[in-house]
Amino acid sequence: MQSFTGVGVSPGRIVGSVRQMPKAVSEPPAGEKLASSTTAEDAAVTLRAAAKAVQAELKQRSVSATGAGKSVLEATALMAADPMLIKGAVKLINTGASAERAIWDSAASVAEMLHNLGGYMAERSTDVLDVRSRIVAELRGVPAPGIPAADEPFILVADDLAPADTATLNPALVLALVTSGGGPQSHTAIIARALGLPAVVAAAGVEDIADGTSVFVDGAAGSISVDPDADQVAAAEAWATTAATLSVFSGEGSTADGHLVPLLANVGGAADAVKAAAAGAQGVGLLRTEFCFLDRDEEPTLDEQVTAYKGVFDAFPGKKVVVRTLDAGADKPLPFLTDASEPNPALGVRGYRTDFTSPGVLTRQLAAIATAAEGTEADVWVMAPMISTAEEAADFAAMCREAGLKTPGVMVEVPSAALTSETILGSVDFASLGTNDLTQYAMAADRQLGPLAALNTPWQPAVLRLIQLTVAGSVAEGNNKPVGVCGEAAADPALAVVLVGLGVNTLSMTARALSAVAAVLATVPLAEAQRLAAVALAAPSATEARDRVRAELPVLEEMGL
Ligand code: PEP
Ligand code: MG
Repeated sequence: MQSFTGVGVSPGRIVGSVRQMPKAVSEPPAGEKLASSTTAEDAAVTLRAAAKAVQAELKQRSVSATGAGKSVLEATALMAADPMLIKGAVKLINTGASAERAIWDSAASVAEMLHNLGGYMAERSTDVLDVRSRIVAELRGVPAPGIPAADEPFILVADDLAPADTATLNPALVLALVTSGGGPQSHTAIIARALGLPAVVAAAGVEDIADGTSVFVDGAAGSISVDPDADQVAAAEAWATTAATLSVFSGEGSTADGHLVPLLANVGGAADAVKAAAAGAQGVGLLRTEFCFLDRDEEPTLDEQVTAYKGVFDAFPGKKVVVRTLDAGADKPLPFLTDASEPNPALGVRGYRTDFTSPGVLTRQLAAIATAAEGTEADVWVMAPMISTAEEAADFAAMCREAGLKTPGVMVEVPSAALTSETILGSVDFASLGTNDLTQYAMAADRQLGPLAALNTPWQPAVLRLIQLTVAGSVAEGNNKPVGVCGEAAADPALAVVLVGLGVNTLSMTARALSAVAAVLATVPLAEAQRLAAVALAAPSATEARDRVRAELPVLEEMGL
């Protein structure tokens, strides 16, 4: 039986048939001319027909889509028949350009024009470029880029997924995600956990599995097997039953002996927050505010920000909501804040550091958070991403207090912050460990790169020690400040036990993971969690740490986690 191994990033066992995500459409050669066998009139007719076909296909898909996916598809469908786009291309065909080259260049001009108009129009420029790829694919007779359209559920195999792919990913049709690239902290992993889909990343060779092949995916073990046997089919059936029982969270995180560990949700906006509240989240441990404004060319207005934040606060009356100020840069660029030409964006002006280059944006955001908080019953805490020094922490705390925000905190996701947490926590009220970036920076391994996935795991002894040091600084004399974890580590039930054993006070994760983490935590007394933390810390490698802890938590295997 042929099989592939990668890194399991979202549990679940499933059997299904493979659909490969089509490759990105390549640019037609510069200066490509009309073939001598074709007239300009014929090429124009072919181009118009291709554009119509693309529009019809997008319209049809938008009918069955919902939410953000529907809006994306509707906007793109409109753009496919845009008279300026098509007229521009026909003009170029009349000067001798091939249909593919003509639509390529015409779309580039339209996109640039929209971009220069700014605001809402600028945001449409990505739709034009998407439409362009679709029309070229239609002209070439190859599958359209993006998530494939299908009537039957399938297992999606791709290089990696971009944040924009989420909008058109229909969880009712996608059974599992498998990628050849990406790491445990990549967008594919985050998307999979948010949607509750089994997922394996960094699985080399899966790009060669033919469409329609039946495979068994084990999202905990990180394996993909072609032509599953009877045992694997039975394991997938058993998982379906477990998944149904795991959809319920009692709403109170605790160890077996009653040590309370509030389980909070990571959200990207009001819609997520409403779902998280319905799933029983005890509050929000991370509101990624940049997710409210991805693709924006201009800074959102005060009113826009107040509306976005208030939508989240209103979902959690009387509960804690931790707002993270804009973490623009690296894997989450915001055109109005970040410089796309930086040679090394992960080490560049990102997160809190954008206040050095774009002063005012953070102050206005804090004012918006304070205004939104005034009208709600949520207990609003605020934290800055990418804090590296105690001075930055103190400056941020002063800015928060100036804005009337009473509970300032920092993310600990840069090793320097973990190492100096005692001083940092002297000037703020809490810390939240961003283990995704903390791992990337401790291991000097880009969190998005598949080949570095083995380095990029929070089970690394170095990362566990940085977490231990952060907690030690938080309880040092005079401090006594709470420390949470809001990185993906909190959503791994085995690691969650270790984190609690290390002294972390709260865990924040995608709402989907709450019930599994709660179920496992509830089987372990605090002293046992502390012993397992020591086991993990003493292990010589990430794999050993994970294997040794998992071996002592048989409940994980029983539940298929
Ligand atoms: C982290 O780095 O762990 C984190 C929670 O922030 P993000 O994933 O948004 O960078
Ligand atoms: Mg981060």
